[in-house]
Formats: sequence, C-alpha cells, structure tokens
Amino acid sequence: MENCVFCKIINGEIPSEKIYEDDDFIVIKDIRPVAPVHLLAIYKPHVATINDLSIEDSQRMWRLFEVVKKVSKENGIESYRIVQNNGKDSGQEVHHIHFHIIGGRKLGPLG
Ligand code: AMP
Repeated sequence: MENCVFCKIINGEIPSEKIYEDDDFIVIKDIRPVAPVHLLAIYKPHVATINDLSIEDSQRMWRLFEVVKKVSKENGIESYRIVQNNGKDSGQEVHHIHFHIIGGRKLGPLG
C-alpha cells in the first residue's frame, strides 16, 4: 500500500535490518529498540489490524509462532515478550500488522 512504511520495507523501497524472510513474514530490527533485542515480525500483506484480518489471512498467520521461535532462538533470547498493537488507543503507529518481539533484559509490567 502506498505510504505504508512496512510495505516499502517489504518491497525493498526503503532499507531495513532484515533478519528473516519467507512467503508470509519479514522480520526486521526495530529502528527504535526498547530492549537489547527488539524485532518486528511483519505479516507481508497489507492488513491494518487484527480486526481487518480475513479468515484466509488468519489461517496463513498460524506460522507466526514458528517464525518467532526461530528468530528468538537465533537472537539469543529464550525469554521474551510479544506485543501487538491495534488501533489508536493501543499506540499503534504503523497501521500494518506486526508483532514486536522484545527481550534481552528483565521487562517491566504491562500497561
Ligand atoms: P507500533 O506502535 O506497534 O505500530 O510499532 C511500530 C514500530 O515500528 C515502532 O516500534 C517503530 O520504532 C518501528 N519502526 C517505524 N519505522 C521503522 C523502520 N523504518 N524500520 C524499523 N522499524 C520501524
């Protein structure tokens, strides 16, 4: 989608620190890390939030957990948090579904 930063990263139009890619997901390093390891697993099709997922998208996304297992292990984090924001009040900044994988230090409470 035009003007979507993650679509541009997926299409190679803007650079990123890519650490993994398959047909459905790309995993990059977050440009503003909140912890020593802060990765973003981005679903490739442009879908803004979980509320916008079709059944077909949801079925394609089941592999996310395999991707998370792989990249977290490869980045040396056995304990980590997954954050996924949906909509304005959640603080979602980029309206293209993605999952933060955060670890490498002791994390505080959710809030
Ligand atoms: P969210 O608030 O859940 O939408 O998270 C968006 C995340 O994307 C933020 O943590 C940003 O730091 C990150 N981000 C934005 N632009 C880029 C970029 N060009 N490369 C890597 N991460 C980015």
